[in-house]
Amino acid sequence: MPKASSLLLANIGQLLTLRSASDGPRRGASLSDLGIVPDAAVLCVGGKIVSVGSTKDALRDPWLKKNRKKVPEIDCGGRVVLPGFVDSHTHPVFMQPRLVDFEQRISGASYEEIAEAGGGIRSSIDGVRNASKTALAKKISRALADLARHGTTTVEAKSGYGLNLESELKSLEAIRAAAREWPGTVVATFLGAHTVPPEYRGRSREYVDLVCEEMIPAVEKRKLAGFVDVFCDRGAISAEETAQIFGAAARYKLAVRAHVGQLSETRLGPLLEHHPASLDHMDYVNDADLPALAQTETIATFVPGANYFLGLSRYPDARRLIESGVAVALATDYNPGSSPTLSMPMAMSLACTQMKMSPAEAIAAATINGAWALRLADRKGSVEAGKDADLAVFEVSDYREIPYWFGANRCVLTIMNGVPSSHLAS
Ligand SMILES: [Zn+2]
Repeated sequence: MPKASSLLLANIGQLLTLRSASDGPRRGASLSDLGIVPDAAVLCVGGKIVSVGSTKDALRDPWLKKNRKKVPEIDCGGRVVLPGFVDSHTHPVFMQPRLVDFEQRISGASYEEIAEAGGGIRSSIDGVRNASKTALAKKISRALADLARHGTTTVEAKSGYGLNLESELKSLEAIRAAAREWPGTVVATFLGAHTVPPEYRGRSREYVDLVCEEMIPAVEKRKLAGFVDVFCDRGAISAEETAQIFGAAARYKLAVRAHVGQLSETRLGPLLEHHPASLDHMDYVNDADLPALAQTETIATFVPGANYFLGLSRYPDARRLIESGVAVALATDYNPGSSPTLSMPMAMSLACTQMKMSPAEAIAAATINGAWALRLADRKGSVEAGKDADLAVFEVSDYREIPYWFGANRCVLTIMNGVPSSHLAS
């Protein structure tokens, strides 16, 4: 992997710093505060941001004056620069796209009908169980490169298509192998409780015991994941089983998160007792749960790519959550069944057009609040001295163009932990 040296980004038209005067994730009105610096410069040394300010001030800096010749300079030509996106919800460990499901859904089958017919999540299981770790790592590496091309510098990556001890460990090891080759940052999550695998059909209790008593201890022993996730919904893992899995995670000092409210409503109180880092999807949420959720640092993560790809007319009610003071994030939910996209700008565009989030809110949700959702806000999600040098340069002159030009990739350069990788000739 290339090493980070020093780097000066100058002549930035709009620098979105996302710096914050207050502690904690962004909520309410503060979600719109991008901390914009016009005509800006950012100096990075050794993979960290060391100074942020106007181009004029940066060029007057005594250290920079002395070392100017040694510091490679990128002239941003008046473009927009922002913190690299933090994609806090992806499922990159799979072998094949699900094209039969895609066609069946187009001709009218529902998500659950496809699962009943043997498609859905279960159809990805064989692919992962039969694949080598190397083949999986190759697929993940390709996804990571594509994420970076779209401006993402930190990504959460879940297992969850192995669903037995061996294949879940293999999936997490593949994530680790791919992460080592990528200059960005990968956070691994164990999702053994994605669904009950076919061989445990009708015996979900036994499978949940296996997750708690064998898989979680094995994941912890090998230090393969920082989080345990559960797909808590109708037809998958029940709220009681989710609480049991969260309890097991806590015994092994692993943090937790959950998929909640994609297909049906689950009351959040019992889940919040386990301090999840995030609750993701949140299409169906009971109003009575919002005040308690707003009191926590648990992030509600929207993944509108799934609503789009499943052809749903209903999207999460972002305005209701934001106005209740809930801290919200955006993620791609990259996966072969319901959201085959690696583009955070696409997720942001959907948030704007379908969920009525403003472009500024969408950007904060895709950067600093994504960092909070991964408990990395001390290092990621904003452009401030001391943070990791994770930046994205977009071929636009106004940040609102990022969600505006939907379906096109305007990211021309991504810097990950100080390592630049340019994607498009400009
Ligand atoms: Zn998911």
